[in-house]
Amino acid sequence: IFITFEGGEGAGKTTHIRFLSEKLRERGREVVRLREPGGTAVGEELRAVVLDPKNDNLSDEAELLIYEAARAQIVAEVIRPALERGAVVLCDRFADSTIAYQVHGRGLDAAFVEQANAFACQGVSPDRTILLTTGGSARMGLSRATHRGADRVERAGEEFHTRVNEGFLAIARAHADRVRVVQSAARKSRTSELVFRELADLFPW
Ligand code: C5P
Ligand code: MG
Repeated sequence: IFITFEGGEGAGKTTHIRFLSEKLRERGREVVRLREPGGTAVGEELRAVVLDPKNDNLSDEAELLIYEAARAQIVAEVIRPALERGAVVLCDRFADSTIAYQVHGRGLDAAFVEQANAFACQGVSPDRTILLTTGGSARMGLSRATHRGADRVERAGEEFHTRVNEGFLAIARAHADRVRVVQSAARKSRTSELVFRELADLFPW
């Protein structure tokens, strides 16, 4: 089973992936927890390139291809083999992030990015996606995410990140069967209950 967590900056993806992973392990499941970009040696190097504030002249096109390269690698090296042996794979960001950031945020062509995603994913797609949202503006999430310093993308400004957040909500509307929206502005324990509920048909809690 393949589950992805999506959302803008500071939405709580990392925290809630950890809660879910603990719960599944308690129930004896093999859990593979990953992040994107990253999750492989190659992917972590690519992550460092896109997030380094020194690379502030990175073009939007080059940036897209770096995310896709990291994705192609994690799919081939980690995700597909894990799914084949029956593990539960939990991924912090996946192809929806590329639609939200590169199409809604940067303005790249939607049809091309969809194709690039499909090429990188090689037929692997999430069974369920949890979209964590702190609601309308990006300010709350950005301040949560950047109190220890902002990476290159987090420096892109509030308007960019608001377009990204709206992009995620548009994706959820377009794929309502797969993507479940969970409000994460409230207490963590409440949010994680909502997350578990959205997965109850996949796991008998
Ligand atoms: O830890 P986090 O998921 O925030 O790190 C990944 C970063 O890469 C995000 O802050 C996001 O701004 C950026 N990103 C992006 N486009 C993607 C995926 C991630 O700009 N497709
Ligand atoms: Mg971030």
